[in-house]
Amino acid sequence: MWMGTYPSVPSRVYSTGKLLSEHLKDNPELVGDSVCNRYGPDIPFLPKVLSFAKALPLQIHPDKDLAERLHAKNPEKFGDANHKPEIAIALSRFELFVGFKPLGQISELLRLKPLQKLLPAHEKLDDNALRKVCETLLTLSPEAVSNTITELQNISLSEFGDSENVPSLLERLSKQYSSFDNGSLVAALLMNYLVLEPGEAVCVPADGIHAWLSGDILECMARSDNVLNTGFCPRADRDDIELFTQSLTFKPHGPEESILQSKKSSIGVKGRSIEFAPPFSEFNVLAVALSPTEVEKHSVLGSPSILVVTQGSGKMTVGDGTVHEIGLGSVYFTAKDAELEFSTKTGLILYRAYATF
Ligand SMILES: [Zn+2]
Repeated sequence: MWMGTYPSVPSRVYSTGKLLSEHLKDNPELVGDSVCNRYGPDIPFLPKVLSFAKALPLQIHPDKDLAERLHAKNPEKFGDANHKPEIAIALSRFELFVGFKPLGQISELLRLKPLQKLLPAHEKLDDNALRKVCETLLTLSPEAVSNTITELQNISLSEFGDSENVPSLLERLSKQYSSFDNGSLVAALLMNYLVLEPGEAVCVPADGIHAWLSGDILECMARSDNVLNTGFCPRADRDDIELFTQSLTFKPHGPEESILQSKKSSIGVKGRSIEFAPPFSEFNVLAVALSPTEVEKHSVLGSPSILVVTQGSGKMTVGDGTVHEIGLGSVYFTAKDAELEFSTKTGLILYRAYATF
């Protein structure tokens, strides 16, 4: 479920059916000068709710430079010239692959017999060598992928050191995408496998490698839909492997570095709001979780926001006194000057993404 003004899946004003993008063009005061001057009368971020039981494509989202070049060359496929750093907040138990493992952990794995050919014995693993290892894994023939997976599964678990989940992950991914998908090797061997609980989040910078495995999540990203896929998708849909590996960033480089911690937000007047503030502009995301009969009030943000209710039901009172019944799946655009109060009899969880500068 996408929410916002991105043209491929645009939101509409419920009462009139008018495109939200058109409504904002006609009423730029709803987003305000700061957003207008920088991004136009528009919403500079794109929140989504995703639900998946099978790995989504192994991917990166290009940085601004690359996005501009790709868009100029092939505007059909790369529909905008923007970067797309993103965050993902778990709504249920969320399994994912994100970023590269620490080099030491990968070096240890590359000593296993079936992988020794990936890195010359005398060569030390640094980020550039890792880039080559990643490229080699992505260019292996389907047979070579399948053979490598089988060989790895025949090795005793104790030889995997800190990565003893590799054989079971390979088995699981092979069941989803056959034993011929290069993505399985890249994900299981090189990337951090994480499990997040509801309310925990990760942050993926532009050019950051990631693949979501299972769960329900709220994603928020800069307003872009550019992506390079190299695994967990039909071979024909794969993007250029050299382009993919050349674009990769190697930060973060370990599981903890991808975690995005939330902090209590002063926007929540009654102290029941936390905030995810990624280290890039465009947006922050507020989270409000209310137990029965609790209330929260948000002071004026001064920038446009989109909120979505992910659990429970309640009431939202806007500064002018209008009351909206809200519940699971309700989505609202709120203007920059809106003051909001949330109340519930039964419990309520909502997320609210807003523009930052
Ligand atoms: Zn993504």
